[in-house]
Amino acid sequence: MSLRFQAISNLTNEPEGTLGVHSQKITAIFGENVFTLKTARQFLSDEGYKSLVASIKNGKKIDRTVASQIANGIKAWAESKGVTHFTHWFQPLTGTTAEKHDSFFTIKSDGTAIEEFDGSALIQQEPDASSFPNGGLRATFEARGYTAWDPSSPAFIMEIGNGKTLCIPTIFISYTGESLDYKAPLLKALESLNESAVAVCNYFDRNITRVTATLGWEQEYFVIDESLANARPDIVQCGRTVFGAAPAKGQQLEDHYFGSIPERVYAFMRDFETECYKLGIPLKTRHNEVAPSQFEVAPIFEEVSVAVDHNSLLMDIMDRVARRHKLRVLLHEKPFAGINGSGKHNNWSMATDTGVNLLSPGKTPKTNLMFLTFFVNTIKAVHDYADVLRSAIASAGNDHRLGANEAPPAIISVFVGQYLSKVLNEIEQRVGDKFDEQDEAILKLDIHRSIPELLLDNTDRNRTSPFAFTGNKFEFRAVGSTANCASPMTVLNVIMAETLKQFKNEVDGLIAKGEKKEIAIMQVIQKYIVDSKKVLFEGDGYSEAWHKEAEKRGLPNIPTTPLALDAMISDKAKKLFESNRVYTHVELEARHEIELEKYIKKVQIEARVMGDLALNHVIPAAIAYQNDLLANINSFKSAGSPESAYKAQLAILTDVSKHIQAVYEKVDALVEARKIANAIENTRTKAIAYCSQVKEKFFDDIRYHVDKLEHLVNDEDWTLPKYREMLLLR
Ligand code: ADP
Ligand code: MG
Repeated sequence: MSLRFQAISNLTNEPEGTLGVHSQKITAIFGENVFTLKTARQFLSDEGYKSLVASIKNGKKIDRTVASQIANGIKAWAESKGVTHFTHWFQPLTGTTAEKHDSFFTIKSDGTAIEEFDGSALIQQEPDASSFPNGGLRATFEARGYTAWDPSSPAFIMEIGNGKTLCIPTIFISYTGESLDYKAPLLKALESLNESAVAVCNYFDRNITRVTATLGWEQEYFVIDESLANARPDIVQCGRTVFGAAPAKGQQLEDHYFGSIPERVYAFMRDFETECYKLGIPLKTRHNEVAPSQFEVAPIFEEVSVAVDHNSLLMDIMDRVARRHKLRVLLHEKPFAGINGSGKHNNWSMATDTGVNLLSPGKTPKTNLMFLTFFVNTIKAVHDYADVLRSAIASAGNDHRLGANEAPPAIISVFVGQYLSKVLNEIEQRVGDKFDEQDEAILKLDIHRSIPELLLDNTDRNRTSPFAFTGNKFEFRAVGSTANCASPMTVLNVIMAETLKQFKNEVDGLIAKGEKKEIAIMQVIQKYIVDSKKVLFEGDGYSEAWHKEAEKRGLPNIPTTPLALDAMISDKAKKLFESNRVYTHVELEARHEIELEKYIKKVQIEARVMGDLALNHVIPAAIAYQNDLLANINSFKSAGSPESAYKAQLAILTDVSKHIQAVYEKVDALVEARKIANAIENTRTKAIAYCSQVKEKFFDDIRYHVDKLEHLVNDEDWTLPKYREMLLLR
């Protein structure tokens, strides 16, 4: 019996998912595995606690002696919870998280065995990490990198089976200081934003001393049965199906959306949510998505760096917990052709230490001006750096969404809703006015009186827009479901930092010329609206008309990763990242190289898997059926039946043979194309070749013939689980 039929029969014998003990209130377990400040208060000396708080609040360095005290406190806490091992936890550019476990256990020089976790083990480690991608960085500078404690993210305990490990969040850098992970540049971008944003906030409120960016991600994913997944080598190796004919029942009925969650999946959700709550991940919503077997989970928003950690942890936890339930989570952007893909919407805003959401329209004209300032600066930032933002979300997986006629398009535009469009238009109309009647100009912005209108506007917010204002935050919808949020968040926050810096310069310039502050601000806002108007779009982002219109407006539209990545290393990008101290030129070049290599590897693996499936699964199944048909036809012939008696068999046989030939020839040509691409020296040229000469030239074409065969060949002979089985059986 093929794996496919074993899987199906396993499925029918599978006991209902067990719910386990999940009856506690969330608050009873929330954060119990996190070394929160409250826990720190309990386990640290006064000095240690104060030092930790200062480091979290103002990024103050912790010195070694205090670090040892803190390490002891963390160890005492961890041991009280049964932890024996610790690891530096970090987010390398491979896109998963990395750990290297060490035990507290050591042997002293006199031979006594003790449990120890000293300051240096907390602060710095040297993982044997020479095989993490570094884009040539460590080869050029130093052989190894090291991980360094990031006190701004709290330590936590990861439970795996019966084992518990203390995880110390760290950044990963080379000995010469280049970042080798996602986290270090993000922290720098956030610092840069803080500086620029506080300076602008102080026009309105002198009490503001800190601005943090906030992020609420929404994670989409598919869940399928483990045995079915295991019978699909493409899912096992690529996380997506490279073949598979459309099922009769796909998502056309939309009966899955907000429908009831299937029992087995529900048990899995409850289980991973519990793990998340213990780690302080504030999950809030879970529901079905549009496609069958597709779901979404979202937390309450948090500060960006914490939210990024939590999303990385969540992806890891989901994967582990799913296996407990004999399920597989598919985080890929497009696991199934013809069925909705998955994204990770990044809801983003900025908050002050006085408790104000800078993208929330205020209640008074003055706070409205602050809102308008940040609102318009965001639009300007996205306008000026649309290409850089696009490059931050480019990946082989996300190419299946962006630029492939799926939500949203590769053209970066901003949706602000009818009401705010009107406000922006009104301000723009006043070009030439000098806003000299201060009160009138500002009072006219009675956004606060129109909040109901504003909110109404955003209930039917445009779902086809990649970057939409949703009432009190922007939602960056083009991020891929597998992405580490740090990548888009680094760019978004740094372009915002840069734009605000320029804004401040321009406003100060006008003030120096004797202009009143509010009027100067209004004038620059007005200028920014005019300058960045072309990025605003309220219509249907999927339509052909928009593609034409966007081209006319001169908006970039780059559907494939190898070319979209160019914007990372343009002069504009280098200047942006360098002047905000986020990446040096060398780091940028290295990252660019790493992204290209990731792309090449992904497409390369998919091409190989395609060849393997075609030759070892599809063609043998088709030949088996071909033989049946031939035998049947021959019996008709030897019985002397007229051809009309086996006309259908002949027709099917001709079809099957035709598609077998096509698959064989095209796979052969694909292998040749891969060889040619492999021989290319330059990484960018190679990536482009993999895109246009391997992927675009062959993938859809081979798939077309394979899917035809799936429709023709005897179901009994077909070894790969079909879409209907993966998507609809539970
Ligand atoms: P919906 O989109 O379903 O109407 P919400 O508007 O409440 O729901 O929020 C969607 C997501 O946006 C949630 O993850 C939420 O935490 C997040 N979010 C809400 N406010 C902010 C904010 N100020 N900054 C960042 N994310 C936010
Ligand atoms: Mg959303």
